[in-house]
Amino acid sequence: MANNNGKEGLGCISIAILILGGFFSLVFLFFGVLFIWSAGAPGVDSGARLSTGIILIFIGLIFIGITIGITVFIYRRLHPKEEKIEITQKIDLSGDVSIQSMKCQKCGAQLDKDSITTREGAIFISCPYCGSDYEVEEAPKW
Ligand SMILES: [Zn+2]
Repeated sequence: MANNNGKEGLGCISIAILILGGFFSLVFLFFGVLFIWSAGAPGVDSGARLSTGIILIFIGLIFIGITIGITVFIYRRLHPKEEKIEITQKIDLSGDVSIQSMKCQKCGAQLDKDSITTREGAIFISCPYCGSDYEVEEAPKW
C-alpha cells in the first residue's frame, strides 16, 4: 500500500510539473512573440525588442524541453519498475528448490539460474547444452 501511494504521489508530481512547466513556457513564448510583434512599432528600439523576444522564446522552449524531459523521466521510472517487480515475483514463486532440480525438457541436462530468462512476464529456458529455447508453463511439472 505504501509503495502504491508513493507511485501515485510521483504521478501527481509529474502532472504538476507538466501543468506548471507548460504554463511558464506558454507565458515566456507569449511575451516573446509579443516583443517581436511590437518590434516594428514606431518610436521603439526595434533591435532590443527583437533580441528580448528571441531570448524569451528561447527560455520558453527550454522550459518545454525540461518539462517534457522530467515528465518522461518520471513516467519511465514509474512503468518499467512495475514490470520488473512482477517478473521478480514470478521467479520467486517457482522457488529455489525447483530450479535446483530442474532439467532441460529436450536433452535432460541440469539447468542453473543462468539458463532462465524472463520475457514479457513469461519464464523462458535457454539450455546451454543442446541450445533449445522454450517457454515454461505457469505450473511446472519438474
Ligand atoms: Zn537441453
